[in-house]
Amino acid sequence: MPTPELCVAFTCDTEDNHPNYVPGWKNLGSDYEKNPAVINWSWSKYWWKLRECFNGKKVPVTWLIRVDNGPVYDQMLTLFRDRIMEFKSSGDEIGIHIHTWSWDPTLSKWVQTTNPDYETKIVFDSVELFKRNLGFAPLSVRMGWNAMSNAIMRALDTNGILVDASAIPETASSGKFGKRDNVYNWCRVPSTPYHPSSDDYQSPGSMRILEMPISSLFSKESKLFGALVNRFSGTSVLVKLVPLARQLNLTPHGHFYITPWWSPSVYDKLISAYAKKAHRDGIAFLIGTFHACDILDPKTGIENPIFERCITDIIEEISLVNDVNVTYMTLSELSKRFNANPS
Ligand SMILES: [Zn+2]
Repeated sequence: MPTPELCVAFTCDTEDNHPNYVPGWKNLGSDYEKNPAVINWSWSKYWWKLRECFNGKKVPVTWLIRVDNGPVYDQMLTLFRDRIMEFKSSGDEIGIHIHTWSWDPTLSKWVQTTNPDYETKIVFDSVELFKRNLGFAPLSVRMGWNAMSNAIMRALDTNGILVDASAIPETASSGKFGKRDNVYNWCRVPSTPYHPSSDDYQSPGSMRILEMPISSLFSKESKLFGALVNRFSGTSVLVKLVPLARQLNLTPHGHFYITPWWSPSVYDKLISAYAKKAHRDGIAFLIGTFHACDILDPKTGIENPIFERCITDIIEEISLVNDVNVTYMTLSELSKRFNANPS
């Protein structure tokens, strides 16, 4: 019997600070209540330190760089081009992170659109900006706020993107933060990678693009707590709830979302569940995700050691998995590995 294989990828939504309407980010968040928006990049002074948490352990990161056709446009690509190219040349992957937002003149806010024609245009415009600035095409994507529709999936596939990791199985949201974003539905999606149908992004079909859901292990408790958190998103009640939830080991996340804000209790369970899956099936694919801006503590304005420790502990935990060959990969490498050997 060959040794079971655990293929691991860490993907990062690499963009500006969280919006200032996300609890805790009032002072340091980006202002999306203006057109043009006022984008805050202050987390980026710790980008090298964040990367060192992975790179020190020779773990590649898939940096999914924020591009859209408003409010951010290609600001990130132009501001950080040299750094992005340096990361790419040393083995990290540079993919794309697209938010499907439009300016609502009535509300005077940037909000997520659900118009399929406009979603398609945003994907095409964003990939074009990416290629024009960096000189190569992205192979990997995660959509902003986990957004997905048939129009978006088809547009990603037409643009030659090999893999999307926006899916979070068993979750849906009709809009958080006063209904302005986080509109998505991944209720029916399989938990294992699949090539989607062009008529139904949640069902297996024959598109070339691969959907690789973020690894997940939802419990009844995390689902109930997640519904409660969604209910209070954007309110100060949530800010008060977070430290208490950490003490009680509660997290609204059943997926591999690496965050300094909630209890890390799900990570051990996820890692051991995927190690078991590798033993059972011969191979398993573990995909985690995080926001680069979480390296900044919005209360102190300096780096957040809890986040650094969280990442270090996760990598340490994975290295301790017994009798399994662990291979760290970029997201597009992971998709190629899956396509070569679907499980
Ligand atoms: Zn985002």
